[in-house]
Amino acid sequence: MKSGNYQRPLNTTETLNFKEIPQWLMECAHTLLSHGFQAYLVGGAVRDLSLGLTPQDWDLTTDALPETVETLFSESYPSGKNFGTITVVHQGHHVEITTMRQDIGYSDGRRPDHILFTHDILTDLSRRDFTINAMAYDFRSQLLIDPYNGRKDLYHRRLQTVGEPKERFKEDGLRMFRFFRFLATMDLRPDPKALKAIHPDFAQWLSAERIRDELSRLLVGTNVRSALDLMEQSGLLTQVIPELKVRQFNQSSLYPSLWHHLLETTAAIQPRLELRWAALLHDVAKPLTFQHDETGVHHYHHDRLGAELSQKILSRLRYSKAFIQSVSHLIQWHMFQLPSNATDAAIRRLIYSVGPQVIPDLLELRRADIVATGRITRQTWHIWNELSERITLLAAEAQSPHTQKLAVNGQDLIEQFQLKPGPLIGKLLAYLTDIVIENPESNEKTQLLHFVNDYLQKNQGLNLPSSHNPQDSAGYHQSD
Ligand code: ATP
Ligand code: MG
Repeated sequence: MKSGNYQRPLNTTETLNFKEIPQWLMECAHTLLSHGFQAYLVGGAVRDLSLGLTPQDWDLTTDALPETVETLFSESYPSGKNFGTITVVHQGHHVEITTMRQDIGYSDGRRPDHILFTHDILTDLSRRDFTINAMAYDFRSQLLIDPYNGRKDLYHRRLQTVGEPKERFKEDGLRMFRFFRFLATMDLRPDPKALKAIHPDFAQWLSAERIRDELSRLLVGTNVRSALDLMEQSGLLTQVIPELKVRQFNQSSLYPSLWHHLLETTAAIQPRLELRWAALLHDVAKPLTFQHDETGVHHYHHDRLGAELSQKILSRLRYSKAFIQSVSHLIQWHMFQLPSNATDAAIRRLIYSVGPQVIPDLLELRRADIVATGRITRQTWHIWNELSERITLLAAEAQSPHTQKLAVNGQDLIEQFQLKPGPLIGKLLAYLTDIVIENPESNEKTQLLHFVNDYLQKNQGLNLPSSHNPQDSAGYHQSD
């Protein structure tokens, strides 16, 4: 624990930045001060304001005990009272107010065994994870308290722990994930000593949800490539996702390894979480499906198996069902094949099979996948762009209200042709859907009834098409 005076006035830029502290938060701090307590802004908000960024959330610390904090504010809830945190709601805004504390013992590798409340801000700052997160702004003196030179580290873009990294990571394994998350989101260079101190074993007691939350933030970071690569090298990533142990798997001479291809795809895709996960996992099944015969190297069905593996991985990390479904759906379809001269009908079949609303993401995944091969020629790029534009246009068309729904329903067919409800109606509707995919203009009631009429006459006593399968290239022509 440090002692001494680490206070200094804000410099001119900081003064301007700290003016961004909102009025409602000032009022909370003044409530504490006016009752004789200390009040500091701490954590990410101080770090972000120092950088001129807008903080995502606000944390205050004080020497008032949690019970006292509850009595000082009219609306609050005990969000983490065991560790001294009360969330106060003031004018509709939420702020976490944590009593200054010292953490004692970390036998579970995540949470302190005991805490001791303290009146000393330096003691409180010493328990915090990184130097850039261990600064405090004193509302009373308007001075910055910076015992670990966090501001200097921000200036030099250095991420290092408060104290011995190995001890700090061992105490609480989540700090290792926060370390890589800050590297990914904040354009920082890792302290080599901290990097060396990362140990996968320290992660074994963490909950899947906490790991998921950190990974979710890391993946959408601008420096995802280097952060993930370092995380993989440290063994931490593959401790959580062993399926990603693919650095040794050389897909072809094009990339150093499958790992690099996954990394490059992830970095190349837009920073949306679903897309980033789909990119990171899209070829995860390649090692399992690897085959080598006289015709070359194959990974048959790696898309389907990859979709299954991604479901397992993301369920383990407790992502929502809907989220898992969209990521695995993208992976399942990432190998879609269309020749550059594909007909509109062929493109529409793909669109209907994948779902028109998924097409933009699927195209984005394919674009990133192509970029990450590192072998694009001007011509390949041109062909891809043209095809992708056509798919986009036809997908937009497929989503228009005009084409989304068949212009007839089962009841229309029953009434018009005196049919009985039953499987025949379903088959006729599937038949019409195929027609509309081929020719969206025909989605008009009179025309469709006309088709059914013709069809019923021609096929009396014959089998109708057995199912609607948009991928089936036979389509309705052959049954005609
Ligand atoms: P952000 O809000 O952008 O995620 P943050 O640094 O504010 O970043 P919080 O989770 O809000 O992160 O935590 C607030 C502060 O609490 C941190 O800045 C740090 O000082 C401290 N802190 C959070 N988690 C830990 C931890 N696992 N170990 C030590 N200190 C931590
Ligand atoms: Mg925060």
